[in-house]
Amino acid sequence: MRETATAPTAPLRARAEIDLAALRANARTLRALAPGAALMAVVKSDAYGHGALRCARAAVEAGASWLGTATPEEALALRADAGLPADVRIMCWLWTPGGPWREAVEADLDVSVSGMWALREVSEAAGEAGRPARVQLKADTGLGRNGCQPADWPELVREALRAEAAGLVRITGLWSHFACADEPGHPSIAAQLTRFHEMLGYAEEQGVRPEVRHIANSPATLTLPEAHFDLVRTGIALYGLSPSPELGSATDFGLRPVMTLSASLALVKRVPGGHGVSYGHHYVTPGETTLGLVPVGYADGIPRHASGTGPVLVGGKWRTAAGRIAMDQFVVDLGGDEPEVGSEAVLFGPGDRGEPTAEDWAQAAGTIAYEIVTRIGTRVPRVHVNEGPSGQEPGDGPGTGD
Ligand SMILES: *Cc1c(COP(=O)(O)O)cnc(C)c1O
Repeated sequence: MRETATAPTAPLRARAEIDLAALRANARTLRALAPGAALMAVVKSDAYGHGALRCARAAVEAGASWLGTATPEEALALRADAGLPADVRIMCWLWTPGGPWREAVEADLDVSVSGMWALREVSEAAGEAGRPARVQLKADTGLGRNGCQPADWPELVREALRAEAAGLVRITGLWSHFACADEPGHPSIAAQLTRFHEMLGYAEEQGVRPEVRHIANSPATLTLPEAHFDLVRTGIALYGLSPSPELGSATDFGLRPVMTLSASLALVKRVPGGHGVSYGHHYVTPGETTLGLVPVGYADGIPRHASGTGPVLVGGKWRTAAGRIAMDQFVVDLGGDEPEVGSEAVLFGPGDRGEPTAEDWAQAAGTIAYEIVTRIGTRVPRVHVNEGPSGQEPGDGPGTGD
């Protein structure tokens, strides 16, 4: 095991260990699931809280040829990273007027365009930069979020082709995004695929020759081969989490959770029965017991909504957040056990040491696992382990994770 930060055994208040071997294995599993498609590793929002640069490098080592981010700033930071191959394609899709179009063109980013304002701004920047912009036209096939409505598609396609003829843009992709891919059989899935085929067909008839056509996120990559097209954009599955428990567990898909969040107990003490615990006294000890102080709170991204429900593994047993989760800390009732102060409290991980998973926290907080990992705060150090050049360390050979 190789570490990139403090050794895993170092006494830290809290740590999010990021297993890059697991991430590489997940990337290979996803590639095997979509063998005809290129793999885009979606590393927006600091790789869903896992650390964008190290995760991007690991994903590329495992065969991802594209990286995806929401904002142009995230994409530009990846392009500036010397640890990534210069030819890796980097796409970003969430633009606002006045964005860094010129920097994006000069950094050879693939930029998403959903409307005429964006096409105008990117064309102008390309003119100034003296080189064509790589543009991917986004279709709203039914999500109702970003993307071009079918009624506006002919104009966007026509003007993009005009800009291409003028040498200002190169239309590298046509793409869209699903609304309900995590609900197998939802009627919107087939409707969106039909609409996507129609909008692709129209653009291609008009003369667009995209390198890639893509619509699949993690759930579609895992369950809808007919949605793979030329490229799949996977975020959550790369981090070893299932997009939704209804779809199947991470294990069902051969994925391994990448993040383990743990903390060192800051205090263990005996208290009498009837003792209120934490703000508001929403928990009162049912009898004499021991309490353990877990030194992470909602400022670290531990959801306050999981007060009274969030699970923690301490000394081999599941304990529950007793009373309110505060900004920096919360308490667990240890039921009379007296683990040493400094003992490890595991909030979530892959689950194979008996610890809860991010999915368990999602259920405890009434949210999704995406939000649990993404919101872990910057005050929690990420400790990247198994960072291996070319992924050649033992036990990480071909086939792992399939
Ligand atoms: C976040 C995002 C993805 C990745 O979604 P997952 O469900 O995490 O795989 C793909 N495409 C777009 C446009 C996104 O915003």
